[in-house]
Amino acid sequence: MVSVWSELRGHSGQRELFQRSIARGRLSHAYVLTGPEGIGKLQFARLLAKSLFCRERTPEQVDACGECRACRSFDVASWPDYYEIRCPDGKTEIPIDLLIGSPEKRGREGMCFELAMSPQASLRRIAVINDAQLLNDAGANAILKTLEEPPAEALMILICNNPDALLPTIRSRCQIIRFFPLPDQDVAELLVHLNHVEDNEEAKTIASMSEGSLAVAGQLLNPDLRNLRNAIVEQLSKLEKMQPLVLADHVADELERFSSSVEDQRRNARWLLRFASDFLRERLHHLAKGDLSDALTQRLGVRIGVDLLSPMLDRVIQANNLIDANSPVRLVLETTFDDLARQLRIGPITAR
Ligand SMILES: [Zn+2]
Repeated sequence: MVSVWSELRGHSGQRELFQRSIARGRLSHAYVLTGPEGIGKLQFARLLAKSLFCRERTPEQVDACGECRACRSFDVASWPDYYEIRCPDGKTEIPIDLLIGSPEKRGREGMCFELAMSPQASLRRIAVINDAQLLNDAGANAILKTLEEPPAEALMILICNNPDALLPTIRSRCQIIRFFPLPDQDVAELLVHLNHVEDNEEAKTIASMSEGSLAVAGQLLNPDLRNLRNAIVEQLSKLEKMQPLVLADHVADELERFSSSVEDQRRNARWLLRFASDFLRERLHHLAKGDLSDALTQRLGVRIGVDLLSPMLDRVIQANNLIDANSPVRLVLETTFDDLARQLRIGPITAR
């Protein structure tokens, strides 16, 4: 029997966790699925919901037949007990209207209202909030109300790439489930399977730079972005010989050349910073585990150490926030690369 879950790569431990909770009658009313973007958290949430609605499988199986009325309706987004929202394109936060309705219909529509209704066709109502890190204060408070007095038979799933961005009061009322990057092999196979790449070798190369995220791999399909990613990694790898201003100029010039608009430039700049932080985080993981098997980590480790890598990572995340706050891209790149180069020159704190 083929399971609809075979569509999903990895994350079998997380599914088993739900199977155990349901078997013990301990399904919580709210979960946060957290982990890097582009590894399948939303797909997991949809499969979980579909499994709970499926009429041919028991809930504790956490599986769906893919053929019953519930499964078919779910697939065409017309199952009445499922509600999903996300941050609309071009918006930087989730509009409050999606949660509690437009001003004219406040409290009479939106996700919180839908979740409070009795199930129409199944045992429970399920709502998924994608991009939950983009909830603003008003949105978070609206959700908090629902979490404080959860409607009977309701399940809320928040999907989030950074749980620290959620209010502590929300976090404490949800069960947090962590998701981890996919193995490179899975990313490579997905790239071919989804027809993003025809050539297996190319898929492997892109997957090796993707840090286990299909979203990152998707961006690396763009050769312009891939070249810039490699230019940044190459400069960081030069340690004290890094040339921050040369790099910033090159990256900013290129972004201006191939981006279609200022907004596109900012979007591409955010991806480049993401590549840089992924790269640093990966070195940090290796160092923390004492794994110096790749030559670069070894050089970085001997020269810099965990003490300086983690502030460098913070610096890149801060740069991302500046881009979000509409600071000029070129200026952000100049100051960020300059700070990174300075830290690479300082060397390990113990050597001072
Ligand atoms: Zn079914």
